[in-house]
This record gives sequence, C-alpha cells and structure tokens, in this order.
Amino acid sequence: MQRTTGKLLATQGYVLGIEISGSGARQSVALADLNGTILHRVRRPLEYIPDTSTVLNLLDDMLSEVTHPEQLHDGRILRVGVAVGGLVDVTHGTVRTLYHAHGWDNFPLQEHFEQRLDVPCIIDNNANAAALAEVAHGIAVGERVALYVGLGRGIGGGLVVNGKIYHGMTCTAGEIGHMLVKENGPKCSCGGYGHLEAIASAQAISRAMIGLSVEYPETEEAIRRVTGSRAERITAEQVFRLAAEGDKIAQRVVDEVNTYLGIALANIVQLINPGVIILGGQVAQAGELLIQPLQARVRDLCLPAASKDLLIVQSSLGAEANIVGALTLALQDI
Ligand SMILES: [Zn+2]
Repeated sequence: MQRTTGKLLATQGYVLGIEISGSGARQSVALADLNGTILHRVRRPLEYIPDTSTVLNLLDDMLSEVTHPEQLHDGRILRVGVAVGGLVDVTHGTVRTLYHAHGWDNFPLQEHFEQRLDVPCIIDNNANAAALAEVAHGIAVGERVALYVGLGRGIGGGLVVNGKIYHGMTCTAGEIGHMLVKENGPKCSCGGYGHLEAIASAQAISRAMIGLSVEYPETEEAIRRVTGSRAERITAEQVFRLAAEGDKIAQRVVDEVNTYLGIALANIVQLINPGVIILGGQVAQAGELLIQPLQARVRDLCLPAASKDLLIVQSSLGAEANIVGALTLALQDI
C-alpha cells in the first residue's frame, strides 16, 4: 500500500489498536504494521461488567505483552487507536459514558494511553471506527458516503464521508440506536421508549422472542431445539432462521425488526444519500435473511432517486470490525 497523503510519511514502525466495551465482553489489543496487517493480538473477555480500574489494569497487562521488545524489531510504535463501545468526545479525547458500566463518565482515556505509551493516541466510538475500517479495508473500500450500522447488544452507527468520520458538533452523530421509530414502543437502555435499539438490537430480538414464545408451546420447543435447552442464549441469527423455517412467532419478531429498522434506514437515506449501508454486529450474522427484505423495504420507503443505487451489505470484517477500526484510526495520516 502506498501512502502519499500522510503528514508523517512513515515507512517503518507499528501501530496499536485497542478495543474496549462496557459489558466486559470485549477487551482486545492488537499490534499491526503500517499496512494494517495484524502481527500480534490478545483478547481478554470478561464474564461480568468490570469497573474502570479492572479494565485499565487488564489492558495494561495486554499492552505489555503485545509491545514486548521482541515484537518490535522493525521500529517503534507510532500511534495508538482506541475503539470504545460508548459515547466518546473526540475533541477532548474523553469517554462521555460507557454503556452498562460505571466510572467512565468524562474519563480522559486519550491522555491515559498517551502517558502510558508515550505516543499520540486517537480515541473514537466503536461504530465510527468500524465504519472507517470498512471503507479502508472492508466491504466498502473507496465508498464516498458510507453508513455503518452495528446491530449488537446495542445499536451504533458511523458515517464516513470522503474518507473521514462525520462527528457532528458534539460528537454524537451516528447515534442511531436512539432514533424514535415507534411511538409508545418498548423501553430503551437510555430510558426512552420506542427507540430503534429497543426493537432491533440483538438483545431486543432475543428478549422479544423469549417473551412472546411463553404462550406458544411449538415455538418454545423450537427454541429449546436450536439452543440445546438454553433458551436464554437464543441469538438473533437463530430467530431469523426459525422465521425462515416458518415459525410464526419468530416471523412476528423478524417483521417488527424489518419494519422499524427499515423506517430508520429510509429516513437516514433521505437525509444523507449514502452509496452503501454496512450492517455489522450479531444481528447482521443473519445475512441475506435480514438484508433482502430490508433492502426491499428501504427501496419502498425512499424516493427512487435516493435508493436506486444504494447497496445494503453485510460487514466483511464481522467481529473484527472494532479492533480493525481501532487500528485504522491509528493509521490515519501516517
Ligand atoms: Zn434510547
């Protein structure tokens, strides 16, 4: 890869990527060369929601492991990128809040890593980072206006325009999980009602499926069959598969997702006219079962001129999107 537009024009060295989630499920650190090729990586998922110092101590150990002098025979670390599963104030380098976790409010994370590692650090929201990764290395290479939608435990969005993340005035652009799509709808993690996240996130889909199945023995039996009798573990992908196999309750849940995710995406399309919408997170693992009806619905709801060339695609980076996003943040302008 040629880098002709950078400020540094570095030819040797490394970047670090760090991924942090509020739920504890995802902590990872990766070392990459200047082409973005991952050379070494460690993951330390936790089964509980950790406090701030637990996460930072854990990352400290992981950083020591990944930046061991033996790994760095081709120069030094030039920059660090951090993808955070929460609200990030990019201007000040702080975490505004990390969903599900306490102790992160207004935490100066950029300064923390700059002091720890003595190199410049860039932090951003994980959906923004994933969007950048998909445009730089993934399914949307070269797209001028690309929207990434992370349909995970929550719902995040990231907009990349002409190769740059669009942050808005106070860095909340892309927070599409909290768009109102259904008046008086289910309660959202933010305390509001009828937000997209409360209907179309992985957690919302599993919860709706389990809740509705209580009165339908056939559906309960189908859930037991696909989850090995651990109904609480049913995934969004499994719900989509049950719907495709003809389960009426699963079809109700899936229709609800298609209806309201379709409304949200169609409204976004009318505003920003993207060339591609990339779907990531656990729900996107349903693949074409999710994408085909959604694409049809968005076409239905939008002006033809806005949607006729629009592609809705599944993320090609999948579960790697956040860590590759963190590395892509670090590689900007190098
Ligand atoms: Zn909300």
